[in-house]
Amino acid sequence: MRVTGRESMKSLRGDRFYRELLDNLYDGVYFVDRDRKIVYWNRGAERLTGYAADEAVGRSCWDNFLAHMDDRGEKLCQTGCPLTDTLEDGKTRETDVYLYHKQGHRVPVLVRVSPIWNKKGDIIGAVEVFSDNSAKIQSATKIEELQELALLDELTKLGNRRYMEMGLKTKLEEMERYRSHVGVLFMDLDHFKDINDKYGHDVGDRVLQTTAATLKGAVRPHDLLCRWGGEEFVAAVTTVDRRILTVIAQRFRSLIEQSSVMVADKTVRFTISIGATLAHSDESMADVVRRSDELMYQSKEAGRNRVTIG
Ligand code: GH3
Ligand code: MG
Ligand code: MG
Repeated sequence: MRVTGRESMKSLRGDRFYRELLDNLYDGVYFVDRDRKIVYWNRGAERLTGYAADEAVGRSCWDNFLAHMDDRGEKLCQTGCPLTDTLEDGKTRETDVYLYHKQGHRVPVLVRVSPIWNKKGDIIGAVEVFSDNSAKIQSATKIEELQELALLDELTKLGNRRYMEMGLKTKLEEMERYRSHVGVLFMDLDHFKDINDKYGHDVGDRVLQTTAATLKGAVRPHDLLCRWGGEEFVAAVTTVDRRILTVIAQRFRSLIEQSSVMVADKTVRFTISIGATLAHSDESMADVVRRSDELMYQSKEAGRNRVTIG
């Protein structure tokens, strides 16, 4: 984007025509100045992050509020911020990140960053455009379908245990046919009883909902995810090998560790223990889930907030 003069960021912000144009985009758009301070925030950004423009403008993107994270759970603010790199070298960048939603869960977005130049050719800021990257698993029609078939967990809006039992059975049959690999992850919230005891059942319910929302954003369109029961979640992912299954499990673990629920002005954080395994070719659905559950217990014994791969 090329604009004229040092004052241009201000004029762009103030121009009604451009503002309306940007507000009507489905994507989130924001501008930062050279210090990575946010000077403009469109309606799409409000919708995708939960933060209104007056909460975002004036803050710095490194101010620990969007807290971009990459696929491996690394925080990008200090070391790998695409805005910093673009302000530095003027190159356009595109990357998948997870941002922090005001409600506490993590949202996957595709981020595109471009520099803003003045007439003299100096970089005076950057624009970030981001769009929702989450699997369509969240769509309203899918939820309605599951509800009709009695396969929906009402609290989290995920499929329930029966949904997973049916879906996983099909996935294992496909594995035979297409020689693909299926990874099963068993996830259990750590010390969840303490959260209920300390903050009440309603906050416990919000922790379950936030965990579900973050996990929904972390799975791919062909993966399966369910609330298995209580504070347990199961995911079945199409994967290629054990190493990638480990990366996926670590991503889930760290996305939950970096989600939160606000209670009054206190931030409640929580963690999950995971057991994950690749399904064997002649194994039943029940056997592979049992194995991943046993591996999850090893993570509990080893201190919780961990991944055990078997
Ligand atoms: P660990 O780290 O060993 O898993 O400890 P934990 O406290 O998470 O495990 P435990 O099995 O002792 O406690 C699970 C708790 O989950 C007990 C139960 O009351 C609570 N729970 C189950 N379903 C719900 C629910 O729908 N809402 C809320 N708020 N709590 C639930
Ligand atoms: Mg449990
Ligand atoms: Mg538990």
